[in-house]
Amino acid sequence: MKISTRFAALGAAALLTLAACGDAGSENEAADNDYEVVDSPKFDDGTRMAEIAEAGKVKIGVKFDQPGIGFKAAGSDEPTGFDPEMGKIIAGQLGIEPKDIEWVETISDNREPFLQNGTVDFVIASYSITDERRQVVGQAGPYYLTGQQLLVAADSDITGPEDLKGQKVCSVTGSTPIKTIEEKYDVTPAGFDTYSECVEQLKNGSVDAVTTDGSILLGYAAQDPDALKVVGEPFSEERYGIGYSKDSPELCTFLNDTLTKAFEDGAWEDAFDATLGKSGNEVPEAPKLDACA
Ligand code: GLU
Repeated sequence: MKISTRFAALGAAALLTLAACGDAGSENEAADNDYEVVDSPKFDDGTRMAEIAEAGKVKIGVKFDQPGIGFKAAGSDEPTGFDPEMGKIIAGQLGIEPKDIEWVETISDNREPFLQNGTVDFVIASYSITDERRQVVGQAGPYYLTGQQLLVAADSDITGPEDLKGQKVCSVTGSTPIKTIEEKYDVTPAGFDTYSECVEQLKNGSVDAVTTDGSILLGYAAQDPDALKVVGEPFSEERYGIGYSKDSPELCTFLNDTLTKAFEDGAWEDAFDATLGKSGNEVPEAPKLDACA
């Protein structure tokens, strides 16, 4: 069953409820989806797609510490989550098998530099599309919509961003939520490199709340439902996109075509079902893609 895009953010709230009684942690199991790997795909000479296909390998930046979105368990060599699944779909359209993807850990603050200096070919890392980011990198999509919320201790009285005055808040440097909470709610959060560090701060009582996208917070809450809860309605719109270098603008049409195909042939839905959907979250309606410039 599908729900409309308008309710995609609400889907995140539903995930919380369901996650609390769901099979916590199962979203970190490796998905066994087999996405199409195109045999000798054809691209125009000189395009970045042709170069990557010819090389037969691709470097994709994902998060390693966000359960359900991008997570790499100690000792495992492949990350799990919705973003790595999207990476496999894209690699497949370039003729590249999952085993030939080099997964690179990106944190929020190094996503633009990693694309600009060629450390990675793509960033698929809970990466919201913004005008500011589009000044320096390409972002195709969106392929998922979520919204900023708060993660607090299970016994906390905080119910939304209005309750944060005088409270200690943690978020991540270089992220959109740290800006929103500062600019719209006049809260100055402690800025860490990763959300897992923020969750540690919350668990040891050093901060009262963690703020970022609901989809990320729900993953942490699902891992520790007795200690943590996600509260309030989403108070921003985060549209996840696929980052690429501005030096290769031709990637935009390739990525949009790949996303359109994945929305239509069920690959995107399979990716969702095997990751974020494991907590009982219903597949949202496929978002409408931004046109390429
Ligand atoms: N989606 C937001 C962003 O791109 C928050 C998540 C993150 O930091 O990865 O900044």
